[in-house]
Amino acid sequence: MSTLTVGTASAAPGTRARGVIHVTNLPGGRALEIPVIVINGAQEGPCVWVDAVIHGDEPEGTLCCHMVDKDLDPATMRGSVVLVPVLNVPAFEAAQRGNPLDTFSYDLNRIYPGKADGYLTERLAHTHSQWLRDVATYEISIHSGGSHSYLSETIFATTDDAAIELAKAMGEGWGLILKSFLPKGSPPAVMFEAGKQGITVELGGRPATSPMEFNRVGRVLAAGVMNVLKHYKIIDGEPTYADKWLTGVQHALLAPVSGMFLPDPMIECQKPMKQGDLIARIVDVYGDVLAELNAPTDGMIFGLRALPNVQTGDWCCFYAEIQGEL
Ligand SMILES: [Zn+2]
Repeated sequence: MSTLTVGTASAAPGTRARGVIHVTNLPGGRALEIPVIVINGAQEGPCVWVDAVIHGDEPEGTLCCHMVDKDLDPATMRGSVVLVPVLNVPAFEAAQRGNPLDTFSYDLNRIYPGKADGYLTERLAHTHSQWLRDVATYEISIHSGGSHSYLSETIFATTDDAAIELAKAMGEGWGLILKSFLPKGSPPAVMFEAGKQGITVELGGRPATSPMEFNRVGRVLAAGVMNVLKHYKIIDGEPTYADKWLTGVQHALLAPVSGMFLPDPMIECQKPMKQGDLIARIVDVYGDVLAELNAPTDGMIFGLRALPNVQTGDWCCFYAEIQGEL
């Protein structure tokens, strides 16, 4: 075993270290940096790299990283874990999807692998990509419904066996694995192009940020990451698995009109629906129905808008067209 270095964090075998990956400086002189926690096992093994806050309004992954960090003892690990609790710091500080100071490359999850001489956030993506490609064996990108929606336990993975194995390793409760045939613009795309595996994991968002719910979401995500570590034998323990895995493709349903978004009160995430079933109505300021949102195919919703105010073109529903089992 050897020392594992990511940015300024260097951990000898059997130890942990904190540090930053430096990207550049901001106008006021403050550095734009990516905080990292490196946990280097005493014995050889793969490296699992966890990225949180690719979107600044999705802090669920940060809590997950803190919980995983507390639970790991590098002296007993075979392999290593790199935790990035907040990838896009300015977006996190503003609690917005992207860095409000960068209007040219705002959405970090669309611009990977970034550019060394590009816009500000493209440079952040480029620096992150280089470390990720060099160090990680497996990558987990943690997302949620952010400031507008709630997303239930859902994984996006490429269709190759190794990526599906990583997705299944999230364990019990993670039975919906949707296809991203060729991830583009995201950290898992960098892993895919390097011949390695990365997945996008979704859980939480606006209605699940109350104290109890936020803690629950953090614990579920942390249990998933710990299960991955058990599956690849980085830590001891018996991994769990979902009873079955459904797969298919995502339909992101956007608002056809502006108004007030009122989901059917009986609707539930990951409950089978038939094509044409009512998902929600959009009403005007007088309460008159302007539009209905219906299931586009047989399948199930896996996420739903949680902000009643809606504008034409806004995200309303994250719908899974189910195509079979894995
Ligand atoms: Zn996201």
